[in-house]
Amino acid sequence: MQIDLEKLKTGNIRSLSKFITLIESKKPEHQKNAQKLLNEILPLTGKSIRIGISGTPGVGKSTFIEALGLHLISKGLKVAVLAIDPSSPLSGGSLLGDKTRMEKLAQEKNAFIRPTPSSGNLGGVALKTREVMLACEAAGYDVILIETVGVGQSEYDVANIVDLFSVLLLPGGGDELQGIKKGIIELCDNIIINKADGDNKQKAHDTMVQYKSALGVIKTDQKIGANVLMSSALNDEGIKEYWSLIDKTYKENKEKITQKRKRQNQAWLNKLFHELIENKVKENPKLQEEWNQLNNNILNEVETPLSAAEKLINTLFEK
Ligand code: GDP
Repeated sequence: MQIDLEKLKTGNIRSLSKFITLIESKKPEHQKNAQKLLNEILPLTGKSIRIGISGTPGVGKSTFIEALGLHLISKGLKVAVLAIDPSSPLSGGSLLGDKTRMEKLAQEKNAFIRPTPSSGNLGGVALKTREVMLACEAAGYDVILIETVGVGQSEYDVANIVDLFSVLLLPGGGDELQGIKKGIIELCDNIIINKADGDNKQKAHDTMVQYKSALGVIKTDQKIGANVLMSSALNDEGIKEYWSLIDKTYKENKEKITQKRKRQNQAWLNKLFHELIENKVKENPKLQEEWNQLNNNILNEVETPLSAAEKLINTLFEK
């Protein structure tokens, strides 16, 4: 597969799409080529604003992202929306791949919308998404919005590739009611109470106050510009305010965000190194046999875990 990086750099959609197909390919030669090209484009990446947006199905993520995307485009920015759908193991799954979502935004030439595959490859759901994000950055997208359904591991993975992570909640109801784990509140930088309209307005306000105090209690250095806002994505309310907050947070926290990205890169190196070692063990029948044997030794309490682990490492690295 031939990818024209020069064209990609000018924002050519065909080149970008081809590059993404290459990144997502499971063929080893494609993966090798994708890594080579990703290394080449690295100097062109990192200039965009990277935002994660999460929330349970029905909370209004796509409505919110569409309104936000249109607002960004009206400000002269180019926006890429990458959607992770953990419910579908293949790219273009039913939930997020639905073509009727974000119809207006999809028609904009400065918007690029793409579902990303969530098969449990190396690096979990987020590695490919991260690489696709880099490709979009090289193609000149100013804002990358990564959408993920508020269930399971994917939140943690997405939080590890974005600068700021926002969660959409409904008015009323505690965390449990909304199927949101406490961990996600700890993870997010901003909370948006969506559907703050009609009869729900007061309830949304009360919920906002409640979460403001909850977010205040969870003090961590990791949170950047944390705040709780209300929106009615349907009525295009609260979107501009949300963007103003993001914009301000960026301007005021440049150094923090740079440091966060460095930490994320290191975490990725660490994670991938361990996963690759594990894969090496799994791919090698001799090691696999030894693994099983040592596992039995542990279960039968005839060997300590450290001694077994050291034996495996010795076999792995023996010439
Ligand atoms: P997603 O599953 O989180 O992507 O949610 P959608 O964006 O598909 O929205 C689910 C439903 O909620 C749709 O019928 C939307 O029209 C509706 N919806 C989204 N945002 C709002 C809002 O701010 N107010 C109201 N009243 N309805 C909304």
